Amino acid sequence: MEKGMLIFNYGTMNSSKTANALMLKYNLEQKHFNVLLLKPAIDTRSGENIIKSRIGLMSEAVTFNEEDNLIDKLKYYEFDAIILDECQFATEKQIEELKLIAIDKKINVYCYGLKTDFTSHLFAGSKRLIELADKLVELETYCECGNLATINARFVDGKIVKSGEQIVIGDEDLYKPMCYSCWLNEK
Ligand SMILES: [Zn+2]
Repeated sequence: MEKGMLIFNYGTMNSSKTANALMLKYNLEQKHFNVLLLKPAIDTRSGENIIKSRIGLMSEAVTFNEEDNLIDKLKYYEFDAIILDECQFATEKQIEELKLIAIDKKINVYCYGLKTDFTSHLFAGSKRLIELADKLVELETYCECGNLATINARFVDGKIVKSGEQIVIGDEDLYKPMCYSCWLNEK
């Protein structure tokens, strides 16, 4: 396995990102890797330190805040791979720090998250990942029409919303993966 890589696994809501992240952790641990699971503290849906997928997999994670320098924060942890879930919520600077950790420690950093928000624009963390990642992997999911979904449509009280705050953490069914043309036509 090639080492020192920053990898961005992206997909829309419901594209099994967290399940994939936790399965990778299991697979790496089977090969005796010491895996550090990370997540931004902003996502507290499944409890402060727990990463949980809808199919029931869960694992404990180290959380970090927007102000944290990840190089300082992870200095005393032992690991030979990092898996970051909900990476879209990391800052651009934190993605740069992870890139440096990957290079310095010659370990792989696997990031899982959304590429774009509910208005089809990049999240800050995702933008920096697209710029810096050695490898981009799309986790596919489909729109109701059968096309590949690329937009995380936001719904409030059953109606689509196309403007507002970028980050509203909530119930999963607040968002629906859609293709761009269905999203454009949804009123
Ligand atoms: Zn569609």
